[in-house]
Amino acid sequence: MAFVRAAAKRVGLTSVVQLRLFPAAEQHNALTAAMELANRAANEVSRLAWDRRCFGRVELHRLAYHSIRAELPRLGAQAANLAIARVHGAYANRRATRKRAHTFRPQGATPYDARMLTFNRDARTASLWTPSGRVKLAYAGRDADMNAIEQWPVGEADLVCRGGVWLLQVTVTLPRPEVADPMNGFVGVDQGIANLAVTSDGAVLPGKVLPGTIAGNGHVRTLRERRHRQRRRLQRKGTSSARRVLRRLSGRERRMMTDVNHQISTYVVREAERTGRGIALEDLQGIRSRVRAHRFQRRTLHSWAFAQQITFTRYKAARAGVPFILVDAAYTSQRCPRCGYVSRKNRPVRARFVCIGCGLAGHADHIAALNIAQRGVEGWGTVNSPHATGLPSARRDRESKPPASAGGR
Ligand SMILES: [Zn+2]
Repeated sequence: MAFVRAAAKRVGLTSVVQLRLFPAAEQHNALTAAMELANRAANEVSRLAWDRRCFGRVELHRLAYHSIRAELPRLGAQAANLAIARVHGAYANRRATRKRAHTFRPQGATPYDARMLTFNRDARTASLWTPSGRVKLAYAGRDADMNAIEQWPVGEADLVCRGGVWLLQVTVTLPRPEVADPMNGFVGVDQGIANLAVTSDGAVLPGKVLPGTIAGNGHVRTLRERRHRQRRRLQRKGTSSARRVLRRLSGRERRMMTDVNHQISTYVVREAERTGRGIALEDLQGIRSRVRAHRFQRRTLHSWAFAQQITFTRYKAARAGVPFILVDAAYTSQRCPRCGYVSRKNRPVRARFVCIGCGLAGHADHIAALNIAQRGVEGWGTVNSPHATGLPSARRDRESKPPASAGGR
């Protein structure tokens, strides 16, 4: 038993681990009953909260606790507390609008905390509260997840039933490594449309350096083009079934981009770690304003994909103790990293850079990445120095939360 929730708050670097549970038939029924009771309780509390316009945690507890215990005697004190906390959270986090009472699905994910869930790590069993008493269940998971459960402090968990399969999604607290000094400078990463990411080492991503993955960026672009045409067709149709297909399409495209972003960020962080460098990325504002210039390409731009790349890289860098910095994007595509000469004329054609000052030539995205790497060094020095003025051009990271979909990667 190692629930260390206070520590989890302090350290702040968490990850979600997924375990599969293996209930016998009557345990399955007990878990279902627990889930339905907990969600019913949350719905009762939610209605009460909405009727009385009472959303504060303490006030809501005062209002709902005794009535919910009286109404649902099998709920138990801790499950009642959690139901109230859930409702408070739902209204506070805008998951619920305040136009009507927020409802919880009867089979929706059910939270468990340390008083309702304990692990026996040696036996690899978990003991869960149900209305008919505790059930003890064997659990299994991927190696990395099993290791995480064995090693790190465990926080809250969600009990989930998906297609008859019982899952426990457990928050674990990862130890935060000290951020190392970037002894050998920075890896600069230029994000773009033609190439999703190009590093200052000249790696074009996704590409050959990511083995066993989507080969080359051409695939992503072709897919986007095809999706775009399909979407236009469906939009013209405008029926409700067309709209449904539309939603599914964008979901699939998002998932694919997410996958590619995971691959890119993992690669970049590993490279930086291996070579004792930090990572510098352009801030989102800069990417947006730079990319907006290309009207033709606007439709293929998913600015959330750029934001996601930043989030993933920042999180994985923090996890690996790799310095991470966002830099000002101004002129990264027009400046010569060797002599510092800035001119639009340094870009004879979009993909090519040739410096008018010193003749340095190269792939435009690679040159931009070199500039970003240099700004990383400058920015890091600035934020590190005791006389730092806090230039807005460099935001340095020490704290970061895990991106919602970064669990286990
Ligand atoms: Zn030059």
